[in-house]
Amino acid sequence: MKVLVINAGSSSLKYQLIDTVDGKVMAKGLCERIGIDGVLVHTGSKDKTTIKTPMPTHAEAISAVINILLDPEQGVISSMKEIDAVGHRVVHGGEFFSDSVLITEAVIKAIEDCVPLAPLHNPPNLIGIRACQEVMGKDVPMVAVFDTAFHQSMPQTSYMYAIPYEYYEKYKIRRYGFHGTSHKYVAQQAAEMLGRDLDELKLITCHLGNGSSIAAIKNGKSFDTSMGFTPLDGLPMGTRAGNIDPAIIEFLAENEGLSAKEVINILNKKSGMLGISGVSSDFRDLDAANEEGNARAKLAKDMFDNSVKKIIGSYIAEMGGVDAIIFTAGVGENDRSVRWDVCSHMEYLGIKIDPEKNKFRGRQMDISIDWARVRVLVIPTNEELMIAQDTERLVKQSQLDA
Ligand code: ADP
Repeated sequence: MKVLVINAGSSSLKYQLIDTVDGKVMAKGLCERIGIDGVLVHTGSKDKTTIKTPMPTHAEAISAVINILLDPEQGVISSMKEIDAVGHRVVHGGEFFSDSVLITEAVIKAIEDCVPLAPLHNPPNLIGIRACQEVMGKDVPMVAVFDTAFHQSMPQTSYMYAIPYEYYEKYKIRRYGFHGTSHKYVAQQAAEMLGRDLDELKLITCHLGNGSSIAAIKNGKSFDTSMGFTPLDGLPMGTRAGNIDPAIIEFLAENEGLSAKEVINILNKKSGMLGISGVSSDFRDLDAANEEGNARAKLAKDMFDNSVKKIIGSYIAEMGGVDAIIFTAGVGENDRSVRWDVCSHMEYLGIKIDPEKNKFRGRQMDISIDWARVRVLVIPTNEELMIAQDTERLVKQSQLDA
């Protein structure tokens, strides 16, 4: 099945055309500056090309994507009919969706109902869905794949915040968790690598990128995760603070003359690795500064590594053990010093990385030493492939049901 995977943002739209038979990416690209002027960067049958074309709305962006996919020179298909289905990344599915779902008007309504939970992300995701329907017609099946869905299996003890219960009932304030598509994908890959059933494994998946989250996955289901009501919770990240004492918000608001919204903006955009180091949010820059003896860059990295270690420890305690720890995303796949520091002094838990194997980056491999009871795996994530596979599964299911 050929699936067009769409990830729509407020002024950008990423796409990949994936053949699910072999998982091959036939073409991919990015529309930028939607609503301003419009730029399409596309890689298909030829090298990367950049095209300027007007994109007043997302509909013109989708049209531009279809046109370039059909282009005799740059394209990879000869008719729009070759696109069997579309898979949309949607950030928030609230408590409505614990799996991906075939898009209907009722599903769109439920995604709209989740807008208060993800005011920056769900609206552009919805616009992407509507734009595809407009350009491709309503006969092409479309599937929504949610960042939150995988974590809906968490027990109430994991997802509740200890604030008055009525706020959960009234506003649905709870831990939702994000990066679910990535955690699910690497968990599946890990089971395959270990040659075991996902249902019998205890896994800890560390998605460490610009945004970072960790998940405890017990018997194939998300049991706990570090991001919360919003992606601000949990680990310190590139520019996000992660969890802090909430009283700091009022203290800063009063002493700096800021509104709560402005403080939250600082916690989202000026904190984390950037805020501590004063150097950068990018781990490569931190590593370079660290080598030059920058103490605050070292502090930022050490804080990050220690936070990852603390969460891993707590998840081992919660699940009563762990079979494998998985590192993924930009930092997890590439930054060997993070992996090394996180897994150091954990021999007593059966965790020990092989320094030679840890030298590799960006490739799927087991980096633990031979005797280690717990396997430490590096698995490059592939959210687009997971979206394409989920889309195929649901479309085939609906065809069987019809
Ligand atoms: P996101 O999808 O959250 O934007 P990614 O998963 O692409 O982020 O991760 C981006 C981060 O990965 C960058 O901030 C960068 O610090 C880190 N990264 C990428 N390559 C390397 C590398 N070779 N060494 C260390 N860090 C790296």
